[in-house]
Amino acid sequence: ARKAFKSWSKLNPKERGKYIFRIARMIQERAREFAVIESLDGGKPIRESRDIDIPLAANHFFYYAGWADKLEYAFPNKTPQPLGVAGQIIPWNFPLLMAAWKIAPALACGNTVVLKPAETTSLTALKLAELIRDSGLPKGVVNIITGAGETGTEIVNHPDIDKIAFTGSTAIGKIIQKSIAGSKKKSTLELGGKGANIIFEDAAIDQAVEGIINAIFFNQGHVCCAGSRLFVQESVAEIVIEKLKERISTLIVGDPLDKNTDIGAINSKEQLNTINNYIKIGKKEGGEIYQAKCKVAKKGNWCPPTLFLNVSQSHTIVQEEIFGPVLAIQTFRTIDEVIEKANNTPFGLSAGVWTEKGSKIFKLTQELNAGVVWANTYNKFDPTSPFGGFKESGFGREGGLHGLEAYLKLK
Ligand code: ADP
Repeated sequence: ARKAFKSWSKLNPKERGKYIFRIARMIQERAREFAVIESLDGGKPIRESRDIDIPLAANHFFYYAGWADKLEYAFPNKTPQPLGVAGQIIPWNFPLLMAAWKIAPALACGNTVVLKPAETTSLTALKLAELIRDSGLPKGVVNIITGAGETGTEIVNHPDIDKIAFTGSTAIGKIIQKSIAGSKKKSTLELGGKGANIIFEDAAIDQAVEGIINAIFFNQGHVCCAGSRLFVQESVAEIVIEKLKERISTLIVGDPLDKNTDIGAINSKEQLNTINNYIKIGKKEGGEIYQAKCKVAKKGNWCPPTLFLNVSQSHTIVQEEIFGPVLAIQTFRTIDEVIEKANNTPFGLSAGVWTEKGSKIFKLTQELNAGVVWANTYNKFDPTSPFGGFKESGFGREGGLHGLEAYLKLK
């Protein structure tokens, strides 16, 4: 990567853009194969891999291909220059998509890359390596290395790495920050979350119920920005919870490769244990559990959609990230009360607001301490929109114009 940086960083940016564009096209052409591998490897429903993960991954390459020769317009009166070799470490929940989020902007800015996928989901990253080789990208520009935490540590500590881009747990993010303290290395960290999804009495209720389901059960809840804390205004709490219970009983939990599946397999036995342990703690601390009696497959790592009622701010399952299909439900009376509660966590990644009143949306967007706020929707991603957190959810943005800044030094 260090050697390849010499010529890659000096290549005419227009040519760099063409390479990235070609990678995007090739992902599109092989989308079906990528989708099947992603679902086999990680357990997510094929409908999600096919309609969301893979097309979005291709779109990130398309989007950043376009920026490659326009960097000086993005940063007027400055000279944008690449950082060098980017070490990129990604998690197991969106394997190909996270690889795309990291590789595309790095290349567009003229950096070379060493990327490590998560140890439980390396297959689509390896397939991407094969595709990139076939695309004719100069050797050494993108390097993909498999391995677990210790391989990650090697990347973090290697003297030839100029920047670390990490997506994963807050615990490992803190370790990485300590390791590179005082070094030349720059970093962006996208860490955990505990997103608040807020339903006001004036919301379109049926739409909001679908939104609650998408917010927490998408990708089995293995989502850092999941809407894992639901806040319902007291006057509509009964009806919302009733509709929610009814609707989750119709969800199909099972075979990731079946196109009717709503919730796939939990990524690993270890993660299933973590989730079940949180469910135990939730019950022990006095939460009222409701598990949908929906169709669940037999053999494998499954977790039915799970609701917790009668919980409060002090409950562990309200404070800590579970990374599974478990929703903690609280009620509120006033807008100021819900802002206070929503912000009362160490995290600051995402939030959702459901209301027909624009004024409420503006107020909450201002006052919620979250890097991403969705209004009357949830878990919507687009390459043009920057994504990232505040507080212990990390720093730096991926996507959009801001995603370029993470891979440039501005003179
Ligand atoms: P999670 O498994 O909850 O997504 P982790 O932070 O454990 O979060 O893992 C995210 C990525 O970080 C994975 O690719 C993992 O292999 C890697 N990783 C784990 N420990 C370390 C470490 N000490 N240094 C660098 N990378 C690590």
